[in-house]
Amino acid sequence: NLTARFEKVFRFLKGQGKLTEANIKEALREVRLALLEADVNYRVVKDFVSRIQERAVGQEVMSSLTPGQQVIKIVHEELIKLLGEKAEPLSLKGPSPVTVLLVGLQGSGKTTTAAKLALKLKKDGRHPCLVPADVYRPAAIEQLRVLAGQVGVPCYEPGQGESPESIVKAALNYAGSQRCDTLIVDTAGRLHIDRDLMEELRRLKQILSPEEILLVVDAMTGQDAVNVAEAFHKELSITGVILTKLDGDARGGAALSVRAVTGCPIKFVGVGEKLDALEIFHPDRMSSRILGMGDILSAIEKAQEAIDQEEAERLFKKLQEDSFTLEDFRDQLRQLRRLGSLDQILKLLPGTGMLKELRNMHVDMKELIHAEAIINSMTKEERRKPEIINASRKRRIARGSGTSVQEVNRVLRSFEQMRKMMRQMVGTGRSSGTKAAKK
Ligand code: GDP
Ligand code: MG
Repeated sequence: NLTARFEKVFRFLKGQGKLTEANIKEALREVRLALLEADVNYRVVKDFVSRIQERAVGQEVMSSLTPGQQVIKIVHEELIKLLGEKAEPLSLKGPSPVTVLLVGLQGSGKTTTAAKLALKLKKDGRHPCLVPADVYRPAAIEQLRVLAGQVGVPCYEPGQGESPESIVKAALNYAGSQRCDTLIVDTAGRLHIDRDLMEELRRLKQILSPEEILLVVDAMTGQDAVNVAEAFHKELSITGVILTKLDGDARGGAALSVRAVTGCPIKFVGVGEKLDALEIFHPDRMSSRILGMGDILSAIEKAQEAIDQEEAERLFKKLQEDSFTLEDFRDQLRQLRRLGSLDQILKLLPGTGMLKELRNMHVDMKELIHAEAIINSMTKEERRKPEIINASRKRRIARGSGTSVQEVNRVLRSFEQMRKMMRQMVGTGRSSGTKAAKK
């Protein structure tokens, strides 16, 4: 579950120990980064984090849970709350035909979603009918007609040059003649929010009195989705949102922002181009997607199997004392080798802060083995004080390990890089306070 997963991430990043007020802040910094990286709007993130902080540093921390568990629990709860708690069904009450109006920018997926929705309702035993009210793109009417054929539902055929207003009026009668109980109206979109379009949509709304006005938003547009949602909501009072293209790279942060900014529920998500790729939106699933928790669990479990805890603690101590040597580095390389393909594991981790740096470091198995051989060929003194390794020593090490001077240099550089990164890691952990105080 999400709480347990998140807890692991926190432990992974911070080592163990009690969270203080300062550390809660630090932990929330990671949360903030994760959310921003998932394309959540910065205003939403700011509110969200401050709400958690308020709860976390308050008296709730004193309960039976450890402070760490408590923070995670709060993050989890608040995130679900922000996403709308539970799935929201379509409202299709009222006299037949009930109307669903789909609106949104061009390319957001309205036409495709209209057909997907028709298929879903048909499967639910309803009798939907599709209405093409996008008269500006010549191919749009044809596109919907073809999709309607695939779904097996009727589609209104506009006359030559018929206006959107006239189309929807006629479609109301058409629905009766076809014994349809639900009208799904596809509308025109523009590349940007546009006065004329809004006016037109407002007129369609007036004619149809739709039970649902669903804004179709492309999840890949990230931050932009917020402005779009705000504008459409202000003009049309939308009743819900459909987030499309979630099968792509989008982490779903747009969902969080759109929901938070408009207060309108997300009702469905589009997860592919096929007509059955429309799913009911589940806040809990989305929250794990946003936090990237789905994959991190398996990655961390894998890592924990290979890196034994004692070893990690010993290393942590060394780092604190700033006595990390090439021997430790070699131990680390051995551990990495035990991890199997590191690249694969790192790819699973969400790209926040330090993890991102790690992920950008490409490590390959052969290199790891060479690096070990190189360090083995060094003298004890060289391993403890790499700065004494001059050109002639490098040549000797390369010969001894059957590698090249370039490879020796590379290992030394990686060591330095690792040491630097480790120092940063320790610096962001709980030792930072004491360390700074010592200096
Ligand atoms: P409209 O301009 O808003 O009507 O957008 P369309 O319905 O014509 O869709 C634009 C493009 O997005 C098309 O190529 C669709 O196949 C694609 N599309 C729509 N929804 C999804 C989705 O959920 N996932 C993916 N991968 N593509 C989608
Ligand atoms: Mg369209």
